[in-house]
Amino acid sequence: MRDFSADHRWLSINTATVRKQRGEDWPLLDILDACAARGIRAVSPWRDQVAAAGLQATAQRLKSHGLELSGYCRGGMFTYTDATSRHAVRDDNRRALDEACTLNAPCLVLVVGGLPGALAGQAAHRDIAGAREQVTEGIAALLEDARERRMPLAIEPLHPMYAADRACINTLEQALDVCDALDAAAPDGEGRHVGSGALGVAVDLYHVWWDPKLHAQIERAGKERLLAFHVCDWLTPTTHLLEDRGMMGDGVIDIRPIRAAVEAQGFAGYSEVEIFSSTNWWRRDGGETLDVCIERHKRCV
Ligand code: ZN
Repeated sequence: MRDFSADHRWLSINTATVRKQRGEDWPLLDILDACAARGIRAVSPWRDQVAAAGLQATAQRLKSHGLELSGYCRGGMFTYTDATSRHAVRDDNRRALDEACTLNAPCLVLVVGGLPGALAGQAAHRDIAGAREQVTEGIAALLEDARERRMPLAIEPLHPMYAADRACINTLEQALDVCDALDAAAPDGEGRHVGSGALGVAVDLYHVWWDPKLHAQIERAGKERLLAFHVCDWLTPTTHLLEDRGMMGDGVIDIRPIRAAVEAQGFAGYSEVEIFSSTNWWRRDGGETLDVCIERHKRCV
């Protein structure tokens, strides 16, 4: 297991962590400048932030700072109610892939969607099994586009509390079942399916830390399918379902054994800090939040 205590070379900042500081959007290019000034080597930007800053301007700023991506957030939202919305989803995901290519992302992260309409407040139906079938179909279709572009897809299982509105893939096991169904190469010597590298998972501690099957599923994933590793902490009590994630060390997630498990499979990428925090970390000066991320990355990750 890598020692993170001495420096932060393996820290990446998911730019949602500092997206709206003190009530104002912090422009992405300024976030990139602030990360580079602190010796942070990688980021994972969100599409809306990139759109606001401009795709080419973002690519240029990344290049001038020598910043890498640890992922691109995000594609997905595959569930639909009619052919029109199905096509719109496919087109939008293709655009996300193209943006990911322009920005040299190592993968496009997928939040797969829940019951159609639920995120807007009105679910079109209650058929979560049907939603999951649409998700698998949607990933299968996008995988063709992704292979053409050589851009890996990382399915991010979300905590079950988001099953209705954001993602009906809720465990690593479910995500890996989809990987095996759509991208199963021959089993390796240990009987484990080895993917082509085109389809894998993003392991976000906030979503999976509670899962009794977590370690077994990390082993099942193996190096080829572990495409991203997101960290934050689970606060007790949690006061908001979306925007009350904790800074590493402030909550109940035993982070290090999970990182050890991922690295035991050969994962050697960035540890990406992803914190949505409307009542704490978004209230501070962005530079202060970044400084705390660096300190906690060394001490708690
Ligand atoms: Zn995440």
